[in-house]
Amino acid sequence: MNLSNIGASKLLQHLFAVVISLFTDLVGLLYPRVCSGCNAHLRKQEENLCLLCLHQLPKTYFWDYDVNPVEKLFWGRLNVSAACAFLHFEEMNPTQRMIHRLKYDGKTGVGVALGKEFAAVLKEKKWFSDLDLIIPVPLHVTKEARRGYNQSAFVAEGISHVYDAPVRTNILKRTVASESQTRKARFDRSENVESVFQVEYNGHLKGKNVLLVDDVVTTGATLEAAGIQLINAGVNKLYIATLAVA
Ligand SMILES: [Zn+2]
Repeated sequence: MNLSNIGASKLLQHLFAVVISLFTDLVGLLYPRVCSGCNAHLRKQEENLCLLCLHQLPKTYFWDYDVNPVEKLFWGRLNVSAACAFLHFEEMNPTQRMIHRLKYDGKTGVGVALGKEFAAVLKEKKWFSDLDLIIPVPLHVTKEARRGYNQSAFVAEGISHVYDAPVRTNILKRTVASESQTRKARFDRSENVESVFQVEYNGHLKGKNVLLVDDVVTTGATLEAAGIQLINAGVNKLYIATLAVA
C-alpha cells in the first residue's frame, strides 16, 4: 500500500466516523433520551438516569439501622431474616416518576440500574452475604401479558449483577389476579394468603437462602403472601428487598 492509499483509507475512516456521529445525533433529535427521574435530556455517557438524579436519590439508609421499618412490617407475620428498601416513595418525588416509567412506560433499564445501585450499597454493608437465589414477586400471567413484562424482574436482574446469584422466575407463580384479593389476604390469613401465590419445583428451594424482590412495599401483604409460600417450601433464610417503601 503506498502513502496516497493510506491517506485515502484514513480519510474514509474519518468520513465514516463523521457519518455515524451525525446519524447518532439525528436519532437523538428524533428520539431524545430523557432521564426517568426528571425528564432532562441525557448526556452521551448517562443512561436511564441523569447524574443529578442519581446523586439526589431519596435513599432510606435503612441498611445502617439495627432494625429498620421494613423489617418491623413483618414482625409477627413472616419469618424474615433481613429486609430493606432502597428509596422513599412519596407523591411527586423522583422515586414515583422512576417507578411509573419502570411499570408503565417500558423503561425497564431504570429498574436494572436502580437494582444495581441498591445492591452495591447492600453488598458493601455485608447484607445478604450468603444469598443463593433471587426471586422477583411475580405478576399474574394475564397482567404480565398485558404489561409485557414484570417490572420487579428487572430490579432483580440489577441485584443479580452485583450479587452473582441467579434470578429465578419459574419457581413462584401468582395464582390470583386481583390486587384486592392480596390486600384481603392480610386480614383473612387462613385461606387467601395460601392461595395468592404458589410454588412450583419445591426441590429448588429446600435449604436455600432466597431474596424476594418487589418494586414498592406498602402494607407488606403481597410480600407476606409470597414469603409464606417460600418458607413452606423449605427456604432456609428469607430476605426481602424492595426498590421503594411508601
Ligand atoms: Zn434526572
